[in-house]
Amino acid sequence: MTLPTIKQVRAYVVRGGGADYHDQGDGHWIDDHIATPMAKYPEYRQSRQSFGINVLGTLVVEIEASDGTVGFAVTTGGEPAAYIVEKHLARFLEGRSPTDYEKIWDQMYFGTQYYGRKGLVVNAISGVDLALWDLLGKLRQEPVYHLLGGAVRDELSFYATGARPDLAKGMGFIGGKMPLHHGPAEGEEGLKKNIQELATMRERCGDDFWLMFDCWMALDLNYATRLAHKAKEYGLKWIEEALSPDDYWGYAALKKAAPAGMLVTTGEHEATRWGFRMLMEMECCDIIQPDVGWCGGVTELLKISAMADSRGVMVIPHGSSVYSYHFVITRHNSPFAEFLMMAPKADQVQPMFHPQLLGEPVPENGRLKATALDKPGFGVELNPAVTLHRPYTH
Ligand SMILES: [Mg+2]
Repeated sequence: MTLPTIKQVRAYVVRGGGADYHDQGDGHWIDDHIATPMAKYPEYRQSRQSFGINVLGTLVVEIEASDGTVGFAVTTGGEPAAYIVEKHLARFLEGRSPTDYEKIWDQMYFGTQYYGRKGLVVNAISGVDLALWDLLGKLRQEPVYHLLGGAVRDELSFYATGARPDLAKGMGFIGGKMPLHHGPAEGEEGLKKNIQELATMRERCGDDFWLMFDCWMALDLNYATRLAHKAKEYGLKWIEEALSPDDYWGYAALKKAAPAGMLVTTGEHEATRWGFRMLMEMECCDIIQPDVGWCGGVTELLKISAMADSRGVMVIPHGSSVYSYHFVITRHNSPFAEFLMMAPKADQVQPMFHPQLLGEPVPENGRLKATALDKPGFGVELNPAVTLHRPYTH
């Protein structure tokens, strides 16, 4: 049995929301005084866009097969990732069979390892890998989740990430994760404000609703430990990405120092089986949160997830819409999923990668049936109304 071969790989850049979900207009909750490692500089405290969080934009990778079928994926990485895809990675795919994703991944990773390993390069590799799985599904006329082993439950259930867990509760989500607004540079007053926001949400949401803090790498070990202990009174379910992703030692210490029953989570800025092996062997966290568009794609996430499963660690991927849904529905150790509330006031459900994808499913009453994923590949199309820019060719 042979499938069509890969004819061409193309990389495009798109501006304005979508996969680069930080690329939003003024007044969006996602850019409203969120604690970051840059907040120690007062001039970069109010807005993450002020220090350049949205400079890259969305990367779109298209892979065309010899029969004209096109697989595609969107992720972040923008123009520099487009350069890497066109000038370096494309050579490992063109002329090959799309079934050979293991060999292709290995060559993409080791062919770039001397300047890659994490960050932007693995982000670019992830985009190519996701486009390859989309192509494979389209050629086989099957959804990606069938190719990954099939659904282990009938539906996905979601927690919502956004500034309004109280509204998310009314929309049927199982929990709400809020951005932490004040970091260590804002001292005791900032710490009090953080706890007050949690207390307010606990009062509005009642005792049984999950509430979490996303700390976006902003804290130090002492602050994170104090925050966790003060938040215990208000039933904080987990403290997310409290420290720098390079500080494995800090995470190991935080996990030991956190109140009993409170989960320590991290990993959205970690990459590959080796990065996650470090997190797990050093016992840094209770839940890992790989982003399938950043950690190496589906091919690598399968390896990361198997390792986590053997250690009793949950894998709850970071955001990433359909690319996560097709994975999470197939894994026993991924019992729920994240939904990013991309409406500017977090007051309604909006497709996560809007406006770049057409046919992007969204949770209803906090849930999504596996059957909503029953289309070939990842089941979405590129919105033709969105302008694609191809900065490089090869
Ligand atoms: Mg996060």
